[in-house]
Amino acid sequence: MVERQLKARGIADPLVVDAMLRVPRHLFVEEALRNQAYSDFPLPIGEGQTISQPYMVAMMTEALLLVGGEKVLEIGTGSGYQAAVLSRIAAQVYTIERSSVLARKARAILDSNGYANISIRVGDGTLGWSGEAPFDAIMVTAGAPAVVEEIKRQLAINGRLVIPVGSFKEQVLKRVIRLTESDFREENLLSCRFVPLLGRHGWQDVPQR
Ligand code: SAM
Repeated sequence: MVERQLKARGIADPLVVDAMLRVPRHLFVEEALRNQAYSDFPLPIGEGQTISQPYMVAMMTEALLLVGGEKVLEIGTGSGYQAAVLSRIAAQVYTIERSSVLARKARAILDSNGYANISIRVGDGTLGWSGEAPFDAIMVTAGAPAVVEEIKRQLAINGRLVIPVGSFKEQVLKRVIRLTESDFREENLLSCRFVPLLGRHGWQDVPQR
């Protein structure tokens, strides 16, 4: 997975490569799908949600420009895999999941595998985690209709936010860097497809399928 799907496509940050090597992805996937855990696509994790494709996990992690030791917020815990990868680089990871079923499963897997620097909260991640802000880096792993101002404001100066923004069907992965208290720089990184970010500052309704 790391050689063929990540390095071959340009993932080069040694911290990201090391984190992807150290986190056993199959632990975060249902037993029936374990033989596909390292395949080049997302997989279902229950509750209509998915664990992202390995490349997307690595690419989004790299886009946060981590050097080690940061305080990081993830919105959309899902299986807990992305949080586990982040926790191998950052000092502390905070992650929010709206589904209590998924949050409970993720907590159990992370606890039983010794991931001690991850705090999980059940709730609406579009509100961020103001009690723990500011964050050096924030990653949103569900597609938003627009960059969420509430989340942007929880970045430290020089902090990076990575967030998919677009329609229900397709998005552009954006990186927002907080330059000063009031000045932000926004870049488009790549096209992507995520499940919707549902909540007060996200999509209000479940999409029609
Ligand atoms: N990062 C996850 C992983 O490593 O398995 C994959 C995340 S999945 C693509 C998106 C997740 O975002 C889903 O679990 C979904 O329930 C969650 N989600 C959607 N809207 C949310 C919100 N407002 N707050 C928190 N979680 C949300």
